Amino acid sequence: MRWREGRRSENVEDARGAGGGFGGGRGGGGLRLGGGGLILLLVGAWLFGADPMTLISILADGGSGSSIQVPDASMQGSAPAPAANDEGGQFVSVILADTEDTWSEIFATGGERYVAPKLVLFSNQVRSACGMAQAAMGPFYCPSDQKVYIDLAFYRELRDRFQAPGDFAQAYVIAHEIGHHVQTLLGTSQQVHQAQQQASKEQANALSVKLELQADCYAGVWAHQANRSRQLLEEGDVEEGLNAASAIGDDNIQRQTQGTVVPESFTHGSSEQRVSWFRRGLESGSMKSCDTFSGS
Ligand SMILES: [Zn+2]
Repeated sequence: MRWREGRRSENVEDARGAGGGFGGGRGGGGLRLGGGGLILLLVGAWLFGADPMTLISILADGGSGSSIQVPDASMQGSAPAPAANDEGGQFVSVILADTEDTWSEIFATGGERYVAPKLVLFSNQVRSACGMAQAAMGPFYCPSDQKVYIDLAFYRELRDRFQAPGDFAQAYVIAHEIGHHVQTLLGTSQQVHQAQQQASKEQANALSVKLELQADCYAGVWAHQANRSRQLLEEGDVEEGLNAASAIGDDNIQRQTQGTVVPESFTHGSSEQRVSWFRRGLESGSMKSCDTFSGS
């Protein structure tokens, strides 16, 4: 990707080294929650009438039994938070800025105003309005505070574990989460969430898949527009993106983590579906091509 000359966003918050907001002054690793802790927190928020919107990630949900793990770097000490002008921070900042420009333009065309989200860089764990989250869940978007959260260690996972290297693969990850922000601005996420509350587990999963595939399609729309306006893509980039979409398909992840594939439990879509919807957005550049809900 030709990203280095790009504008940098002012909406990046660097919370790396902040320890997720816990135990900062107590000279240690802070309070760590196991995988179950997050689920408890989310359930707790539900029971106590807090905003029930749960976070939406690019990978299988944290509560779905997936065992994606990233190396635990929590004991690296409490170095001061680096400014976001390191390579990773700069990259994220440019991609975010590009999504701001692209979506502002698309929204303006429809007579709407795009309200840009914040993007929080964190390490290991972070407290969001959707609860405490672990890096192991992968990057996610929290509709309640309208922020995208990403631990850049995920990019190593993407490259090494999912065999999806490349800067455009990394940009797709951000663009997918921004897709969830667009869905939130348009009210789609809220509608789906409401429908899910009256649905069976299988129906709720199917709705989740539609929401996720639409976010993939929106990521493609961004890439199309950004390339048309700012010639962002280089030879091989499209393949990198499609490869990443395939790598994080539910079937691929389930095959890796549990050895068997259970389509009814899919929450994000199969590799084939993710590639297909990302490609639709990429080729058309139009949100109209991203209606994953009709025909159901
Ligand atoms: Zn997602």
